[in-house]
Amino acid sequence: MQKTHLTGLAQAELSEFVASLGEPAYRARQIFQGIHARRLRAFDEMTDLPKEFRASLSDRGVISTLTLESRYLSTDGTRRYLFKTHDHRPVETVFIPEERRDTICFSSQSGCPLQCTFCLTAQLGLLRNLTAGEIVEQIIVALNDAYGVGVKTPRGTNLVGMGAGEPFLNFEELMKAIRIMKEPTGLHIVPNRITVSTAGIVPRIRELASTPDRPHLAISLAAPNDALRDELMPINRKWPIEELMAACKEFEKSLKPNQRFTFEYVMLDGVNDSDEHARQLANLLNRHALHAKVNLIPHNPADPLPYQPSPMKRVEAFRQILEGKGAHAFIRRPRGRDILAACGQLAARGAPVQVEKTASAHRIA
Ligand code: SF4
Repeated sequence: MQKTHLTGLAQAELSEFVASLGEPAYRARQIFQGIHARRLRAFDEMTDLPKEFRASLSDRGVISTLTLESRYLSTDGTRRYLFKTHDHRPVETVFIPEERRDTICFSSQSGCPLQCTFCLTAQLGLLRNLTAGEIVEQIIVALNDAYGVGVKTPRGTNLVGMGAGEPFLNFEELMKAIRIMKEPTGLHIVPNRITVSTAGIVPRIRELASTPDRPHLAISLAAPNDALRDELMPINRKWPIEELMAACKEFEKSLKPNQRFTFEYVMLDGVNDSDEHARQLANLLNRHALHAKVNLIPHNPADPLPYQPSPMKRVEAFRQILEGKGAHAFIRRPRGRDILAACGQLAARGAPVQVEKTASAHRIA
């Protein structure tokens, strides 16, 4: 009999599971708190449950399925975790310490089926979708590692679904994980603290627009016209820019007046970073009357990707053109590049050799 992964069960499902073992409903609440609030990783650590019950739980269920293979620490404090699933698929998670609030970047798929040419993950192809439980587990392990098992996060945590995979191709499990994580008796990370990034899966952007309790939305754009976007992000051939912008407009209409969604624009030296590209991008946003923020992200280079990051002077000039035409543009500082933890660098690799040799970056198995 296959064991049930309890970390991916909502409270009601956990109650049913517990009832099937002939136990009262309050046991489900204890288990839920044990997994999500106390962030325990084994039934044996749930000492508030009778020993025999813990034994029967172990026979029928499991709470930790991800095995930590490696943990890499960047010179800037960023941590990258490389896990293996029970069926040996790689999963990567990144913890990014920040001044105001720490951020965890999680993966929604092992590998990714989309073929964005500036992204290392694309080279893995899709290995499989992750389950809601596997998504939640990534957060639990990263929190425990950063703060200690069950220790309350000092300033709260932001989550971004920008790790490996296209989250909107695993929509059901993603949304289920988000519902589980928002529970006040568990992790209590509300959707307002979560941002999910898509390469432009139009039907799901529309679906999100009508979802009441939802995360923030980021759209990876990378090009201001179809010819270039077709090349950089082949998903554009299925949902070209005009269709994408129409869905974005629908999403924007569903936001409260003070809310904004975000466009992510990776800056590739000599490819998509000219003054003309900046003008095209601003005109595109203005034509659709979109008030979204634009995050400019200098590309994170990695072998064998054929791109280099735009020089900072170019990124700044690009930003100024956008601002001059009324767009709200920001420059994102790359984090964790030295350990292949930055955007577009997740491909289940070890850190480059030169990093492991420095005194300030450690590989901890
Ligand atoms: S950028 Fe995102 S959607 Fe594109 S290949 Fe990489 S992981 Fe997939």
